[in-house]
Amino acid sequence: MGAGSESKWRIAKALAPLVHNHVVRRPRSPASAGSLHLGPLGHLAAGAAYLATARRQQRSDQTTATQLAWPTVSPLPPGLELTWIGTAGFRIAYQGTVIWIDPYVTRLSFGSLVRRRIVPPSADAVARWIDRADAVLVGHTHFDHALDVPEIARRFGCPVYGSTSLAHLMQLHGLAERAVVVEPRRSYEVGPFRFHFVPSVHSKLQLGLGIPYSGELTCDHVDELIPQAYKCGQVWGIAIEVAGWRLYHQGSADLLEDEIVDRGVDAFLCGISGRRFTPRYVERVVRALDPKLIVATHFDDFFRPLDAPSQFSFNVNLTGFADEAHRAARDVPVHTLEVGKRV
Ligand SMILES: [Zn+2]
Repeated sequence: MGAGSESKWRIAKALAPLVHNHVVRRPRSPASAGSLHLGPLGHLAAGAAYLATARRQQRSDQTTATQLAWPTVSPLPPGLELTWIGTAGFRIAYQGTVIWIDPYVTRLSFGSLVRRRIVPPSADAVARWIDRADAVLVGHTHFDHALDVPEIARRFGCPVYGSTSLAHLMQLHGLAERAVVVEPRRSYEVGPFRFHFVPSVHSKLQLGLGIPYSGELTCDHVDELIPQAYKCGQVWGIAIEVAGWRLYHQGSADLLEDEIVDRGVDAFLCGISGRRFTPRYVERVVRALDPKLIVATHFDDFFRPLDAPSQFSFNVNLTGFADEAHRAARDVPVHTLEVGKRV
């Protein structure tokens, strides 16, 4: 690809928030991070500023990811396994039971998104990355959280828990009986896992003005499931108890403080993309959850194949996130995981 077409491609990626890319502003100085509330023009200007220094910021975030690497002496309780599989996707295993949150392994390309191509779940990718599934928990039904869920349920015959939009997606794939439409804060059990869903909201990725592909997933036929048809549906925070530990997963960077009753969690799996569109997101969510440990997620470029070397999502600013988290909770460790590496 020549320099001209590459810069065109980068500009197209810069405009991706309008078509669903998770975008975060790189602050000019750490002191301003998380406290500024930009208008739409400010968000556009921040995106343009990012493009001018993208390589340097990718390097800075790479350095930060290395500094935040999971410690050699794992803080997890014995026998509990945690694996990040990119985006907001996690595998959590204990005593032979394996549950997944927002697993997304097919990784449709940015070109497929722009050209509105129908991309079905990749059976090969699911076979490669998903070893076993006793349940799948889904925070919302955008493609980068829900596209592979029907294929996983079909392959492993497991239930999937989430919104009415998720149930509709399952029905399109002929798997309606696998879907559990959750009730807010009702406790569900799968093996040694107990979990409940907390009403939440999606960050307003469209320059702070709106949520991309909002509303219910209403597509009528599986052959019409273009990426844009994966409407958001109800958004959930997910609270999980296992091995005496409490984990909390928030895949999109917004929250409803009054709905959160899960203070003092042991680990907060924190989706960091899109947080620039939510005023004081990190400060507010950390205050609501009071976590003992924060795991940053959803900072990788999810248009790249999962087995390609990882890059950072457009302007996601992991370095700025580490600063924001430190200001919000000085003594709480922040870590990142490597894609596919079990800890
Ligand atoms: Zn989303």
